[in-house]
Amino acid sequence: MEVVSAVVRPQPKDDDLWEQVPCNLCGSWDVQVKYEGTTDQDMEKMLQSYSASGNFVSKETLVQCKHCGLVYTSPRLRQDLILQSYTDAEDPLYVSQAEGRIRSFGRCLDAVSKYTRPGRVLDVGAASGFFLKVAKDRGWETYGVEPSRYLSEYGNRNYGVNIFCGTLERAPKFEKKMDLVTLWDVLEHTFDPKDVLTRCNRYLRNGGLIVINYPNIGNWLARLAGKRYWFILSVHLYYFVPKTIARILEETGFEMVEEAPHYQWLELGYLIYRLEAYVPPAARAIRLFSRLLGMEKMLVPYFAAQTRVVARKVKNI
Ligand SMILES: [Zn+2]
Repeated sequence: MEVVSAVVRPQPKDDDLWEQVPCNLCGSWDVQVKYEGTTDQDMEKMLQSYSASGNFVSKETLVQCKHCGLVYTSPRLRQDLILQSYTDAEDPLYVSQAEGRIRSFGRCLDAVSKYTRPGRVLDVGAASGFFLKVAKDRGWETYGVEPSRYLSEYGNRNYGVNIFCGTLERAPKFEKKMDLVTLWDVLEHTFDPKDVLTRCNRYLRNGGLIVINYPNIGNWLARLAGKRYWFILSVHLYYFVPKTIARILEETGFEMVEEAPHYQWLELGYLIYRLEAYVPPAARAIRLFSRLLGMEKMLVPYFAAQTRVVARKVKNI
């Protein structure tokens, strides 16, 4: 008798807080476990972590698609719960890093400016508008989309950069096409990256650029860290590598222009706070030293195994 093997879609129960998802890139349910995890978690703490500076180390299971290699969280917390948390998130910690983040975005825009002159830019997941402020100061016409009421209001009030509060699905139809769409620290947070990139394609003019940075789980530092890779956080639902990013961009109508290591600038005190989640005694010792030397506000560049890609729209989707 012939044995037919099939991958069966799991049936969710109505009261489940968690949901299984298929591969976003190829649609397959055929996965292998990359890092075994659990759904037995402190739900209140976990929900609070869905904010711009969410720091909750993931205990969820990461799976890898057997067909295309995409790594993602499954099961994951239900979308409506996550979205509500992003909407309600207040994040004074994130906005307290204004100086470092604005300087960091200045460098990011320098890198993009090699390929385009100022025009119309849409920043998806604009948070408090730091990138858009930098772009506006350099002559760009700015638009943003951001689910957090607190962060979008902060950006509009302080910088007047036209941030729509909500998700990309609900965002307005802009009258004219964009020259540039940016997703800074965003794609890995989204429920459906392919849908997000498809929408970005539709917002762009032909030949317009998209810029994405992402934690590269295939980078040698990330591989060395394994399960302890610092970007394995509950807020991150997807873990891309150059191969999966290249494929998802190609399938949504883009052609790769540049791929480069992504550096960021943050205050030393804030970096120590992030370190505290992993090695508390070391972080406390460094904090003490930096306080003694008055260095907590010092801006430091750091590379944390992130990659930045610039791609060009070559096809309408
Ligand atoms: Zn796949």
